[in-house]
Amino acid sequence: MGLKKLKTAMIAGVFTASAFLTVGSVSAAPKKFAGELAYEHVEYLSKEIGSRVAASEEETNARQYILNELEKLDLEVEEQRFSYTRGESTVFDSANAIGVKDNPKTDKQVIVGAHYDSVNVGQGADDNASSVGVILETAKALDKRNLPYDIKYVFFGAEEVGLQGSKYYADQMSELEIENTIGMINLDSLLAGDNIYVYGGEGEDGWIRDLALDIADKRKIPLLTNPGINPLYPEGTTGDWSDHAPFKAKGITIAYLEATNWEIGAHDGYDQTVKHGGIWHTSNDTLDFLEEEFPGRVQEHLNQFTQILTQMLTDIKKEL
Ligand SMILES: [Zn+2]
Repeated sequence: MGLKKLKTAMIAGVFTASAFLTVGSVSAAPKKFAGELAYEHVEYLSKEIGSRVAASEEETNARQYILNELEKLDLEVEEQRFSYTRGESTVFDSANAIGVKDNPKTDKQVIVGAHYDSVNVGQGADDNASSVGVILETAKALDKRNLPYDIKYVFFGAEEVGLQGSKYYADQMSELEIENTIGMINLDSLLAGDNIYVYGGEGEDGWIRDLALDIADKRKIPLLTNPGINPLYPEGTTGDWSDHAPFKAKGITIAYLEATNWEIGAHDGYDQTVKHGGIWHTSNDTLDFLEEEFPGRVQEHLNQFTQILTQMLTDIKKEL
């Protein structure tokens, strides 16, 4: 594909020219490459809205943006409101934004989730506008596809204050719904890290991770898993610090996509980069900083993760 002919957008020419997945081909308009739409969402969420602290006006604005994007697709859209307390008695309000791609012939489902709130420093570009962008683009790419299960795209509020949105969502699931859930795929912080990773459960519970690794292998995408240098986090797995955890606690098979670097620091995946250590939760978590310090990385990761997630959601049926 002649990338240089692409006239649209900010990032034309920066995407690397291999194994692209085209999405949303509208005649007349130039085709977009995987990750391009995701980039636009990241830009809007991180630059236009900025940091999106749980229960703040900016978090609400981000949620409205997501709900609005979901409404454009062939999805059933829902805002799932919840409250949580911090400290002794203070009550805060947040909500999850949900888009359901329903297959009326089945109750089987796959849950894809990412939090859209952020901490108050930086602009939450890596953590976690990146994942929101990738999921919104993937949802659009799969919008007209017939898949033998429902997909629930869930955007969690208030992750940074104790996984509030994902806990609430998982707690609302009935036993039957849990039983019908093929798996939950969580995405968190896809841009800054030196390497791209997928994690899963231990033993047989790691099959969605292994599916992702196979997909990446076929597409020549250098997707890794945690090498298991640190005995606290065995090879292929990770810690319970993001929105996959409440689902894992219900016995649901999880997979988790992230960019970081398990080879450095305390080998706990916390130090994302050799160059700057952790980017998340610092003032460096902006699109401008990432693009200045790591030229091409943002586009490359958005492209890779969008390809991987789209294919995972297509292939996961093979394991039914
Ligand atoms: Zn996060």
